[in-house]
Amino acid sequence: MTTTTGDARSIGLGAQGLPIERLADILRQRVAATPTKVALRENSGDTSFAELDARSSQFAQALLAAGVKAGDRVAMVCANDRYFVEFMFGATKMGAIPAPINLRLVPAELRGVLSVCEPTLLYVGAGCEALMPAPGDIPGLQTLLDTAGYEKLIAGHSTDDPGYQAGASECQLIQFSSGTTGQPKGIMLSGRNFSAALTGVADRVDIDENAIAMAPVPFFHITGLVLALTAINKGSILLLKMPAGPADLIRLLVEEGVTHAVGVPTLIQMISQSPAAKDADWSKLKYFVYGGAPMPRPAITAATEVLECGLIQGYGMTETTAGVTTLWPEDHLPQPGRDRVVGSVGRPMDGVEIRIVDPATGRVVQTDERGEVQIRGPWVTQGYFNRPEETAAALVGDGWLRTGDGGSLDADGYLYLHDRIKDMIVSGGENVYPAEIESVLSAHPDIAEVGVIGIPSHKWGESPHAVVVPKPGSHPTEVDIIAWSRENMAHFKCPVSVSFVGALPRNPSGKILKRALREGVAELP
Ligand code: AMP
Repeated sequence: MTTTTGDARSIGLGAQGLPIERLADILRQRVAATPTKVALRENSGDTSFAELDARSSQFAQALLAAGVKAGDRVAMVCANDRYFVEFMFGATKMGAIPAPINLRLVPAELRGVLSVCEPTLLYVGAGCEALMPAPGDIPGLQTLLDTAGYEKLIAGHSTDDPGYQAGASECQLIQFSSGTTGQPKGIMLSGRNFSAALTGVADRVDIDENAIAMAPVPFFHITGLVLALTAINKGSILLLKMPAGPADLIRLLVEEGVTHAVGVPTLIQMISQSPAAKDADWSKLKYFVYGGAPMPRPAITAATEVLECGLIQGYGMTETTAGVTTLWPEDHLPQPGRDRVVGSVGRPMDGVEIRIVDPATGRVVQTDERGEVQIRGPWVTQGYFNRPEETAAALVGDGWLRTGDGGSLDADGYLYLHDRIKDMIVSGGENVYPAEIESVLSAHPDIAEVGVIGIPSHKWGESPHAVVVPKPGSHPTEVDIIAWSRENMAHFKCPVSVSFVGALPRNPSGKILKRALREGVAELP
């Protein structure tokens, strides 16, 4: 079955009512409309749209002066602060491609990501200093900047926008995911992709110049980034104060008068379980958009009871520039005869096509039948940077994106997700790819073989668990393997538990049977 809803109105409009064809259009139109309004709010103070525009243009001019050319990649490891926003707009104003990188990686992982996008410049922001590579360490990297270096680089440059006009399908930004092979992949997103992502939810949630938007999730992930772009496009204040924990998040949401928030399910669960949430005044909060991982039904019910705002679930991937289906607030409420809809991820947004395909035969299946979810529309990436084979494997027959998610569509066009076809684990909103963990753990001196699966976690949704075959004569311990993992991988990827077996279950072609591993682990005491 294939489903698509409504017409194909999927071109976002900017503050001047003109179509958005490229990332810089968002800021260019906004600054023309409301230059003096507050764009960004941080602990250190507010930044207006005019200031954001001027400083991002200075960065663009500095890049040109440094010999950076259109199409060159410029990478950043940076928190959700004004430097992130300036860097992104500045780079695209002169045609460079910004590549934001996860700040929780360890140095070896960062090197892997940099070798994929081959940037000419890397900015390492405040709080990420430990990731600063030594000069000459990364081939091709000509400029290394910390915050002081960035300030020095842009100082004295003109505040004129160089005015680069990227084509609508030109790559405008690269986001990273590790993918099933365990190798980092750079997902290329175009102006057309971002334009589509600024329609749909953004047009239906009263987000405007009076709104205060907050994404307590990183901008180096697509959900956070799209919220930031939406806020700037609509002239809202983008709150860049990062909470220290759930209670602090509740305080910020309430005290700062946040009207629109975006987060992953674990975050909403933490909020609704916190005693502070029950007495909080939620009257300002209009919408909380969540997605990126399954949200258990009891958690949805608890959230609807605690948070007195519209809950919207989105389903999508980085490859689809964030959400392409939406479960609207009314779908969260109990409705006679339509109760099962709460268990879905909603219906496709206008202009998105979804079909369910039998992965074995490639046949499009019938209503309610299960298969692989495939997505088509202007949201979908044109592929992975410098990875033609992986692009060809992901984008099949006429622009359909293989998601690796198992799902079914009902007669009303609601999408239900079932088992993942890919082995991915989602832990606290971060995607974790077993293949990547397995390849790191295989280098442990006492490990002969290892298989990694996700196990349920009350706090994080899922957590990685490693099933290890020790090398003959060696006796590694769980503590030892976890400690070793922490030295070699970002913490969110490290197994939380380890079990030991004599051999891994494999199919005749040698592939680890993950289902058998899961069943084995479920039986452990
Ligand atoms: P990412 O590329 O990091 O955005 O991850 C995309 C993947 O997250 C999807 O392919 C799904 O497996 C999962 N995902 C995203 N949204 C949802 C959702 N609403 N419910 C369940 N899983 C989701």
